Amino acid sequence: MKNIFSLSDKIIKLAKKAEEDIKDKFEAIDENSFYNHMKVQKAFSDNKISTEYFIATSGYGYDDQGRDSLDNVYAGAFGCEAALVRPNIVSGTHALTVMLFAVLRPGDKLLSVTGTPYDTLKGVISGTGNGSLADFGISFEKVDLKNGRPDYEGIKKALSDKRIKAVFIQRSKGYEFRPSIDIATTKELCGFIKSVKPDVYTLVDNCYGEFVEKKEPVSAGADLMAGSLIKNPGGGLAPTGGYIAGKKKLTALAADRLTAPGIGLECGCNFGLIKQLYQGFYMAPHIVAQSLKTSLFCAAVAKRLSYEICPDTEEVRTDIIQAIRFRTREKVIAFCRGLQKGSPVDSHVEPIPWAMPGYSDEVIMAAGAFNQGASIEISADAPMREPYACYMQGGLTYESGKLAVMLAFDSVLSLDE
Ligand SMILES: *Cc1c(COP(=O)(O)O)cnc(C)c1O
Repeated sequence: MKNIFSLSDKIIKLAKKAEEDIKDKFEAIDENSFYNHMKVQKAFSDNKISTEYFIATSGYGYDDQGRDSLDNVYAGAFGCEAALVRPNIVSGTHALTVMLFAVLRPGDKLLSVTGTPYDTLKGVISGTGNGSLADFGISFEKVDLKNGRPDYEGIKKALSDKRIKAVFIQRSKGYEFRPSIDIATTKELCGFIKSVKPDVYTLVDNCYGEFVEKKEPVSAGADLMAGSLIKNPGGGLAPTGGYIAGKKKLTALAADRLTAPGIGLECGCNFGLIKQLYQGFYMAPHIVAQSLKTSLFCAAVAKRLSYEICPDTEEVRTDIIQAIRFRTREKVIAFCRGLQKGSPVDSHVEPIPWAMPGYSDEVIMAAGAFNQGASIEISADAPMREPYACYMQGGLTYESGKLAVMLAFDSVLSLDE
């Protein structure tokens, strides 16, 4: 085979061995993907999706059947009562913000049971003067994980505060080097929370988690969840958007918050993007499988190079993220630069760390995606802080993911020369 990318002998050999290490795990990923595809196909069939649903709407978007049916398709596939799927939800952070403001009212308190929420939620929870939860008199408390597991004793204690209206669970690890919260744990956690305080709402940040397992948090006991369409459920085809899904009553509140009280689900045109949203969701189980294989491959290569990884190749996966602890700033930068070389867009560009809006430390991002910042596409990012862990995710095809990961590690290996 011709070495088109001048990959080193070392990485070629390493990749071969790494692939042998994980071959048997690909079967389980395919099986999971087939199951999730059946859920999606069932939702398409049940909702009798037809060509007229793909018509572009403008203005108010009254009676946009495509939009309303897409909500139902998401709800059906996710196993919940209702969903709100919109191209005018600008990001995951926006979807999560809508979810939080939908449920919380002045005087209420939000309790995070998975430690500090994702970096971009900091300003949402405690920003000053710009309309954060804190500005509306909504307080916040967190219970950290204990050895990567929910601290049930700590949670029980914290729940004694009568002001707590909602509990926040972040499924994916974000920029923490910890195991993600899998569906079995979510089920146990939601059951526990309701047993201590039955009237509390359980809200899940489901970013990066969709279709990784056979169930979603809302069919495992959570009341509401939110995520981004340029991650898993957009299947790489949705150019933008977000969703909120769960209990019907709460989804309606989220719609009222996204548009206006009283308008809720009635308004919101589809900008002509509706077919991409449908097709992306249809592709999503398969695309998620591709990115899971890419993550597993990345983990196997890193393991052979003796880097600390999270999750390990042998652990259960509940999101598409692979964390690698490089320990030095130089290696993180080298990894991201190598990965960028294997990206479809801007492969000639060198990523550099910068002060991104919403993040407290400088962040480096390898993101050569068709849709700007889409992390269901091959991407890696890292906050520039100890212990210099890099978070890799995505890959629309295993082939592209594998090549990008090989280029990334080759770039790291070249530092030792
Ligand atoms: C990506 C992500 C977010 C925020 O999503 P954006 O689209 O970047 O705003 C929130 N939480 C987690 C766990 C994420 O992975």
